[in-house]
Amino acid sequence: MHLQFHGAAKNVTGSCHYLEHDDTRILIDCGLYQGGRELEEENRNDFGFDPASIDFLLLTHGHLDHCGRIPLLVKKGFKGTIVTTSATRELARLVMLDSARIQEEEAKYKNYKNNKQKKFKAPFLPLYDTLDALNSLDYFVDIAAFDEPHELCPGIQATFYDAGHILGSASILIEFDTDAGRKKVLFSGDLGYNNRAILPDPASPPHADIVIMETTYGDRLHKQLEPSIEELYDAINTTIKRNGNVLIPSFALERSQEILYYLREGVEQNRLPQDLAVFLDSPMAISATQIFKRHPECFDEETWDVINSGRDPFALPGLHFSRETAESMALKQMRGVVIIAGSGMCTAGRIRHHLRHNLWRKEAAVIFVGYAGEGTPARSIIDGAQSIRIFREEIDVHAAIYTIGGFSAHADQKELFNWHRKTGSPERTFLVHGEEHAMTTFAALLTDTEVIIPENHQQFTLF
Ligand SMILES: [Zn+2]
Repeated sequence: MHLQFHGAAKNVTGSCHYLEHDDTRILIDCGLYQGGRELEEENRNDFGFDPASIDFLLLTHGHLDHCGRIPLLVKKGFKGTIVTTSATRELARLVMLDSARIQEEEAKYKNYKNNKQKKFKAPFLPLYDTLDALNSLDYFVDIAAFDEPHELCPGIQATFYDAGHILGSASILIEFDTDAGRKKVLFSGDLGYNNRAILPDPASPPHADIVIMETTYGDRLHKQLEPSIEELYDAINTTIKRNGNVLIPSFALERSQEILYYLREGVEQNRLPQDLAVFLDSPMAISATQIFKRHPECFDEETWDVINSGRDPFALPGLHFSRETAESMALKQMRGVVIIAGSGMCTAGRIRHHLRHNLWRKEAAVIFVGYAGEGTPARSIIDGAQSIRIFREEIDVHAAIYTIGGFSAHADQKELFNWHRKTGSPERTFLVHGEEHAMTTFAALLTDTEVIIPENHQQFTLF
């Protein structure tokens, strides 16, 4: 049995792992590389395997860095079966279609620029287009339910466990009958953080011979949740009082819904003004919120209590959805409101317009509630940049900047360690999906297993 790594090796994006046993080839995730031109160029390189040879693609969750290369995989000849949970299928559809639109727009813009500058180059083609994304939906034919063993083919079965990371997210155990007996290979997927709103805690993982696990926060402990909620409410109250806008750059999936959940609680508990005006300025986050409402089977007990009492977990009286561009532009005139917009790391999306109109105002505030990768505008602002370049304009930073760490969608070092301990003492543990420092720090904690930090495209013989 062979295991290969074709993404998220010593970085946090492009998740794609390959397992081969006898004549069966299985992929676990097929995500897009994100962040910085060099890394994104990697999306155009060879997968490192023949897409047509893959029998099964098991998808852990619907984040772009886990599903974003699926349309490309299909375009290059994949004819296998995609297995995932029902909620992930819906979120992946939204994410892949959005990604196709971005690829198309980017290609159009590059070609327009080349033509304008009279650089008569061959046309720049999108990585994939909307039709490729639509075609890939035809292969999402197999739905997995949590905790129920799922036979892929004779002698190979997969079981999905709730990973508590985003709606529908899973860790996946694959069991193989081999000459040396039954062998278990466990992929963590991205692991959630305990005691968060909406989703249950990550399920206890089964014992496994081989573990492949994420290490996003392998070197850090998160702040506690309750003080973070308090900090969020304080930041909003202080800013609204001085008639400033509160910008919350946010990922469309999970984080936006979680922030809505806490804002609703704040208003209900009189910790935020009753007439607090909140604008969810992201068509994708609006669609994702609708998908959430269709999958209450993924919710935790507290969220069920809200539903059972006749309330909507994601709605508050002053909430407005801005789907159209004109609605988003009208927000320019608003003062003393909360605006939630993507992207979370401020690399794209409507948040850039709001930053342009608010970052220089000392009465405004920007609240970062998520991961900010190296080299992104979000990271620069958090690190104290005096000014930021947005749309070829240098914008001074005078707004109050808050970084609230307690809302992470990823487990921290302690939780990763506890999760790993529950897998027994695996023969080998491969660390993926982390920056190098996080991986080496976490590796030093694991003493009852052989720890390997694989290189991209590296192959290992397991059994
Ligand atoms: Zn994720």
